[in-house]
Amino acid sequence: MMAIGMVAKGNGWTPKFEDIMCSMDSLGKMPKGAVVEMKEAMQLARRFNRAVVRPYALELDRKMQQDPTYLPWEFVEEANRWGFYTMWIPKLFGGKGWNLGSMIPFVEELATECLGMANLIGVQYFGISILFSTWNVRLIDMICREVVEGEKSGKPCLVSGAVTEPEAGTDAEEVELLSKARVRCHARKVDGGYLVNGTKVFISNGHLSTWHMLIAYEDLERPEETMVCLAVKNGMKGFSIGRMEKKMGQKGCPASELIFEDCFIPDDHVCFNAEQMKGLRRSAKETGMQVIDFVVSATRPGVGAMATGAARGAFQEALRFARQTEVEGKLLVNHEWAQCLLAEMYKNMTLARLTYMECAHINGRYGLASLMNHKPVYYYSRSMPTSFFDRIMPASNRRAITTKLVRKLVMDGQKEEDAMRASGWASLSKFAATDLAMENCRLALELMGRAGIRQDRRVEKILRDAKLLQIYEGTNQLNRLNLFKCLIGPYAPEARVFEE
Ligand SMILES: Cc1cc2nc3c(=O)[nH]c(=O)nc-3n(C[C@H](O)[C@H](O)[C@H](O)COP(=O)(O)OP(=O)(O)OC[C@H]3O[C@@H](n4cnc5c(N)ncnc54)[C@H](O)[C@@H]3O)c2cc1C
Repeated sequence: MMAIGMVAKGNGWTPKFEDIMCSMDSLGKMPKGAVVEMKEAMQLARRFNRAVVRPYALELDRKMQQDPTYLPWEFVEEANRWGFYTMWIPKLFGGKGWNLGSMIPFVEELATECLGMANLIGVQYFGISILFSTWNVRLIDMICREVVEGEKSGKPCLVSGAVTEPEAGTDAEEVELLSKARVRCHARKVDGGYLVNGTKVFISNGHLSTWHMLIAYEDLERPEETMVCLAVKNGMKGFSIGRMEKKMGQKGCPASELIFEDCFIPDDHVCFNAEQMKGLRRSAKETGMQVIDFVVSATRPGVGAMATGAARGAFQEALRFARQTEVEGKLLVNHEWAQCLLAEMYKNMTLARLTYMECAHINGRYGLASLMNHKPVYYYSRSMPTSFFDRIMPASNRRAITTKLVRKLVMDGQKEEDAMRASGWASLSKFAATDLAMENCRLALELMGRAGIRQDRRVEKILRDAKLLQIYEGTNQLNRLNLFKCLIGPYAPEARVFEE
């Protein structure tokens, strides 16, 4: 394994500066505008929270408890009107071109009020990240422009990401586990495309999406070498949407079953397969995993940000309660034990935020968003109007040579060391922040007694919602192992990770 970030010295190690303080190291390297955008995105989210999320969060949760098949179209249409489904699509592809790093403080804000609604917006960028991670510029252009059209016409065009299967969850996201995973979604190469059979489950926004970025396998015995990513559109013959899961939390955001029965996907909907990646320096297996790593390195800090929002939501409700409630003749907020507990909660949400912010810097420099963060690219894209790109880009985006060049630049250009750093930190942020969110829910309930479990006090909902964060995007246990693999493993060469 390659040594990253640290220099082994006997039994110890000396971390590189960028590994322990990436954000500090990034000062001057990241465009200043990207940091300004983070604040602007937060302010926008606060306005949206006041106008839409807070007034509707409990009502939607109750509605879904009464009718688990209800689809929250009115919320999706509102988010579409506010422009959130195109905000983080680069202008090159018709979007508003906000820096990807600004999305995570945005979802933190939304998540303080409702994790389900934060995910109804955030998970759009899970689907889009899968698409971008294949670096198939023609399909990125085609699908993103449909999303933009959906915004203009008022008919939302959402994109889901479909990896999980009935018998394969976390293991579908790890190359070492994928070789042993019980994946069943088969893509058989036929004349002019693929014939797909299989099922995907727990696909967020599946029922609400127009496009689905599907991960399937040409050979189920060798999934790690034969992974394909296909762009599936509603209405394709052989594709249908099945049940909606009845789940514990984040009820507003549907988790859907996608069913493929002899579903023909034409060649021009193939985002990537081993054939397309020939000529790149990594093997088919390594390239497939690089794609998945690009995705989870970008989206796991997003889960960390949602968790920070949950930790903050629980803190805010606890503080509100402590300021309103008298115990033994004085306000709870004046009892020292309550002050210590609130201080602990404040510390938890701050630690959670620090992990995702640090991770955002790391990903901005080494991961999916790194290309757009080069200062010349960033300022050029930011200063030119979208209409300028609309005139010049689509023709070149459609050319096969563009995809080839971009893949060479980005995929071959990413060093293993950087990919490992981005992946390890994404896992750190994901499990640290989600565990802290759960801890804050526990502390809030401790402080609030019986009031805490009442629906209108919101904390019981935050707890139900936050639990799901520890599971999706790879369970926290598996993310711990991934951190070990990426950040510690290189210095403990005798250790075996994911091998049993
Ligand atoms: C609300 C929600 C939304 C979701 N949205 C999406 C989506 O949009 N798209 C999508 O593709 N998926 C989605 N998922 C699926 C999600 O990514 C998976 O649930 C997650 O990756 C965990 O997989 P699993 O549930 O199969 O658990 P498993 O991976 O089966 O884990 C079960 C237990 O076994 C442990 N375990 C598993 N493998 C190992 C191992 N090798 N060694 C040691 N222990 C192991 C785990 O840590 C855990 O304790 C969603 C899930 C939820 C709950």
